[in-house]
Amino acid sequence: MKKIGFIGTGIMGRSMVRNLMKAGYQVAVYNRTKSKADELVAEGAVWCDSPAECAKGRDVVITIVGYPKDVEQVYFGEDGVIKRADPGTCLIDMTTTSPKLAREIYEKGKEKGLKVLDAPVTGGDSGAKAGTLTILAGGDKETFDFCLPVFEAMGKSIYYEGPAGNGQHTKMCNQIAIAGALSGACEALAYAKAVGLDPALMLESISTGAAGSAQMTNVASRILKDDYQPGFFMKHFIKDMKLAEEESESAGARLPMLECVLKMYEQLEAQGKGDLGTQALICYYDNAGENCGE
Ligand code: NAP
Repeated sequence: MKKIGFIGTGIMGRSMVRNLMKAGYQVAVYNRTKSKADELVAEGAVWCDSPAECAKGRDVVITIVGYPKDVEQVYFGEDGVIKRADPGTCLIDMTTTSPKLAREIYEKGKEKGLKVLDAPVTGGDSGAKAGTLTILAGGDKETFDFCLPVFEAMGKSIYYEGPAGNGQHTKMCNQIAIAGALSGACEALAYAKAVGLDPALMLESISTGAAGSAQMTNVASRILKDDYQPGFFMKHFIKDMKLAEEESESAGARLPMLECVLKMYEQLEAQGKGDLGTQALICYYDNAGENCGE
């Protein structure tokens, strides 16, 4: 049985750990705020006091932290995964981070005899809970094949995207498409409200037609219940759109729709709404303004 070290037990990580344990893996966990791993430890995970302790003696180390700076800290620090994992260990970063950083981890890992994949996910908090995530992996194919059973414990649609960084590039495409889908659903709700439609009926009616999307069904629908809690943090989506913008500049691609949606979200973040879920984009349209989503 493979021994797994898992770093980052937040909204996504905690459900992914549960599914790994359900599949029979021994999982050791580390998280910056220890209390966020307490329930998992009570359910059978082993607590580690540092990324080093979590990495040492494992077959596979999985990370899903917040931002690129968190990934750098976990991998490149003195007490980090690259320095402390045993040669031959597979390292899988499932955080949404920069494709450049993914390639850097791959190169630095290779120098130390480590096998590295970038494997960001999509499918949201509900997909993490249900074990139905879509996983987008970049790196060496043989490392991907070795890790496939581990991915299958957490996800349903698992794709090999090519060399290191391609998992993150594919995730950037996903975030670009989400910006369009979610802003489209919010704008439809704003219009429905202005013309006096029943928003719930409108959303149900168009969800099954050509405009339907997971964003409409699983995310925008939370607006109808005044539920602005984060399944996916607005602050993380802003991070992702900025990463996509950066990458597009160096690649020479144009992202005019994403730039527009990013500006909308940045305005909301400046009002202190970054810790709300992405569905709080509706507040951009809402006359309730500052108090929207509170
Ligand atoms: P989250 O709830 O904030 O979880 C991130 C966890 O990582 C937190 O518990 C955090 O600890 C921990 N962490 C951060 N830096 C760390 C470090 N240096 N050492 C150890 N632990 C550290 O966020 P999430 O929603 O699970 O998202 C995680 C990542 O997946 C993000 O990159 C996000 O963009 C991506 N993602 C999220 C979703 C979604 O729907 N939620 C979907 C796909 C991808 P603290 O408790 O101390 O903050």
